Amino acid sequence: MVEFLDLVFPRNCVITGDAIGPDSPFQFISGKVARQLVRVQPPFCLTCGYPYFGVVMASDRTCPKCREMDPVYRQGRTVMLVEGAGRQLVHYFKYEGARYLLKDFAKLFQLCPGLNQYLKEAILVPVPLHPRKMRERGYNQSSALCQALVRLEPSAELRDILCKRIDTPSQTLLTRRERMDNQRNAFAVRPDNGLRPDLRHVIVDDVFTTGSTLNSCARALKRAGIQCIDILTLGHG
Ligand SMILES: [Zn+2]
Repeated sequence: MVEFLDLVFPRNCVITGDAIGPDSPFQFISGKVARQLVRVQPPFCLTCGYPYFGVVMASDRTCPKCREMDPVYRQGRTVMLVEGAGRQLVHYFKYEGARYLLKDFAKLFQLCPGLNQYLKEAILVPVPLHPRKMRERGYNQSSALCQALVRLEPSAELRDILCKRIDTPSQTLLTRRERMDNQRNAFAVRPDNGLRPDLRHVIVDDVFTTGSTLNSCARALKRAGIQCIDILTLGHG
């Protein structure tokens, strides 16, 4: 059924501008664009969530990049690939203030197989922004994603326990090696926050690029005595 408000103010696709038709489960993503999104289905790398296409061997539990990195976190999931339309959506959300896309990302979380189970009774820890960037952007996109995840799985709890103490330059022009060095000790656990080291913590970020940011966050949690650390990202770049 067409909602009354949709007749007065038709919703349009953030990418194509087309009106959103009944073929789309999303608010601001048309059916055509939705079909272009590469949503992750099993099998995937158990450490970063990157999907395997084609033949999968028993030795493929972890992808070559994760094997090389040997991260502090234990396992990881991701919901879609950050390419094409997926890349544009993340860009609008992160850099162009399109916070309304959170509703559609919440839908993507909901459609991701097994995500509820993955989040069950976890402490969700957003990757923090440096205060300068927080002032610039006005919101932390990782915290916003955590809020959507808690609505999806109410047994999970959002706890903003990390802070970013080094204002690292933009990562986009750096090599893989430089990114890793740059991020190494950029994060710390906030003092006096009543940590629960006995519980499983899931670090949440918008995009998995090299894993260095997430690993740096995981290292900070580990230093604070937290043993069971996993990750979740909206997209894998
Ligand atoms: Zn991997």
